[in-house]
Amino acid sequence: MFLGHFAAGLAAKRVAPALSLGALFAAAQGADLLWPNLLLAGAERVEIRPGLTAVNPLDFVSYPWSHSLAALALWGAAAALAVRALGFGWRAAAVIWAAVVSHWLLDVASHVPDLPLAPGLAARLGLGLWHSRPATLVVELGLLALGLALYLRTTRARDGIGRFGLAGLVALLVGIYLASFYGPPPPDTRVLAWSAQAVWLFVALGWWVDRHREPRAPGRTPSRSPA
Ligand SMILES: [Zn+2]
Repeated sequence: MFLGHFAAGLAAKRVAPALSLGALFAAAQGADLLWPNLLLAGAERVEIRPGLTAVNPLDFVSYPWSHSLAALALWGAAAALAVRALGFGWRAAAVIWAAVVSHWLLDVASHVPDLPLAPGLAARLGLGLWHSRPATLVVELGLLALGLALYLRTTRARDGIGRFGLAGLVALLVGIYLASFYGPPPPDTRVLAWSAQAVWLFVALGWWVDRHREPRAPGRTPSRSPA
């Protein structure tokens, strides 16, 4: 899954408005931020096999440290403690944990059975949404629309960057997704790993756009007086 993870980050803003969208993107996409680096380090393995599913040509041979349920629960706990250490409340910490773990649940929907429960365990889960191109598009775009709607109900633009920057971020997300959906498979795993680092760009964009938006709820408006 790709857009669905960003949707989770957008939606999480409703539950933890104090957290930046950049942090929420980083949490919901934590697994896919780690994964390319573990690939480049040789700690995890992927193979490109065009036709493996109707949507995705990647055979996730081994990725227990970035994509097992147990590892993500631990990464999530570490991220939640970091958020607490930065002075946020337990609610924000719990949202960060849930966002990190949500990656596994959403990937289970998309992937063929290749998602491990824990490093060292043989069991693999996956519901195989990727076998259907139309269903994948409907779910990915539908989730993004839902997440965006929640984010827009939670925040409002403070200036042009808050408004048009957000529109640009969403357009770029959808553009990159459709380019990979309709485009050729990556030429090799190295190119794949480096292009997967693009997720960092969206963490930065999320952080930037979010700074130019503010909570909508009347009780939560910033303390700046409108004088
Ligand atoms: Zn993933």
